[in-house]
Amino acid sequence: MIITRTKKDLKRYLKLIKDAGKTTGFVPTMGALHKGHLSLTECSGKDNDFTVVSIFVNPTQFNNKDDLKRYPRDEEKDLALLLSVSCDIVFIPSVEEMYPEEDKRTFDFNGLDEVMEGKYRKGHFNGVAQVVSKLFEIVKPDRAYFGRKDFQQAAIIKYLTDNYLSDLNIEIKVCDIIREDDGLAMSSRNTLLTEEQRKSAALISKTLKKYTGNYKNYSTEELIKKITEEINEDPNLKVEYVDIVDDLSLETVSEIKPGKTTICVAVYDGNVRLIDNFPLK
Ligand code: AMP
Repeated sequence: MIITRTKKDLKRYLKLIKDAGKTTGFVPTMGALHKGHLSLTECSGKDNDFTVVSIFVNPTQFNNKDDLKRYPRDEEKDLALLLSVSCDIVFIPSVEEMYPEEDKRTFDFNGLDEVMEGKYRKGHFNGVAQVVSKLFEIVKPDRAYFGRKDFQQAAIIKYLTDNYLSDLNIEIKVCDIIREDDGLAMSSRNTLLTEEQRKSAALISKTLKKYTGNYKNYSTEELIKKITEEINEDPNLKVEYVDIVDDLSLETVSEIKPGKTTICVAVYDGNVRLIDNFPLK
């Protein structure tokens, strides 16, 4: 496994791969890796000759400075985990390497960024698009892998690729959510939870699972109300939003179309913000 920290170095390796006619898969991450990230890397390993994983905590996507400061980082552990999966090159750039000058670009996502995460984390997706477009321009992969855990992000990355980066011809693959044994969606932020908060966190997926299993008995308003109330019953948990949206437009729906609709939530567990989603089948 090769570790590179500069664009120049990375491009040198990628040129060798491309000149040999081999394919490249790319997994962008912010590190503090867990089995969710590793599953994306394994998917890439199956589809491509070579896999590049990037580790970069992107400052421009944090709308909250404290959140950026306390975001978990553990490079040594990340590298050890990547050695256990099909990762060929790790790219770990510095902030200066990625942003030699301020990135002033703004992206238009045709409203996809105005709901849910975009509503509560202003500018977040613009920052995501800044870093992902830079990384895509550097790596120019055949395929890039994202988790359904970040449901809205995946839709925005597809839009970005189709509307701003179509020349690069990158296929976007969205992989399933990897969960802990008690159902909690794996997330780097879970490491910030206290033992008690970690126990509370299981109620989020438990409640979503319960109502996605029998959603046909309720209207969308009733579902949102019941899910919100049941999660908020735990004193550590505070729902920021529950939304039931169309999978493509991300617009709130009043009528559920099986297989085309998803319930998304954001919940504060203490001061740690967690997100999750379940498809309505
Ligand atoms: P992050 O490091 O949080 O930016 O995540 C990097 C990539 O891993 C994103 O595409 C996430 O959607 C994906 N990811 C994070 N958690 C999970 C999970 N539990 N299951 C599957 N993919 C995940």
